[in-house]
Amino acid sequence: MARYVGPQCRLCRREGEKLFLKGIRCDTVKCAITKRKYPPGQFTWGRGKLSKYGIQFREKQKVKRYYGILERQFKNYFKKAERQKGNTGENLLMMLERRLDNVVCLLSFASSRKSARQLVLHGHITVNNKKVDIASYLVKSGDIIKPKDDEATQNIVKANLELMKGRNVPAWMQLRVDTLEGQVIQLPAREDISAPAQEQLIVELCSK
Ligand code: SF4
Repeated sequence: MARYVGPQCRLCRREGEKLFLKGIRCDTVKCAITKRKYPPGQFTWGRGKLSKYGIQFREKQKVKRYYGILERQFKNYFKKAERQKGNTGENLLMMLERRLDNVVCLLSFASSRKSARQLVLHGHITVNNKKVDIASYLVKSGDIIKPKDDEATQNIVKANLELMKGRNVPAWMQLRVDTLEGQVIQLPAREDISAPAQEQLIVELCSK
């Protein structure tokens, strides 16, 4: 599947805020948002105020970029969210938050969503002791997420855990560092969502 392979920091600069796409670098002074907090490209200073559509569109792009998904996948998530009971925007964010690549990143098994996705796709992650190599797999309450039983994989995960030591694990999951195990305690609620998003703007845009 097609994938964005350009500079990650450019995406944050485009959205005007940190999307945490580059792991530990995002918490340092090297972060491009800290150094150059203006949109990438030429002639960006003269751009006027965004229209209502522009604001809604940027919000959607921000969420897609944060979770590393493309337009078609996003539309599918939105359709599913619409079919579910409750608030469509919240349903959408909760589904995205439950993606296995996002969960692996939140557990600090990988330093960024991109490397988490690679760990999953290369078959290094198990869910309930079964290999799952689908990044879009949605975790469920009670699921146990672990690196596979292989020394090289476990060393990668240990190194990432050490690197990301200061990061908190969200309340809806539990991390056991000694056994390299993460467990989903409950499904995430709106306040647990890690993405900086105003879902109502996305719903207004996608419902047109
Ligand atoms: Fe975004 Fe991280 Fe780059 Fe900062 S370092 S601009 S947060 S990807």
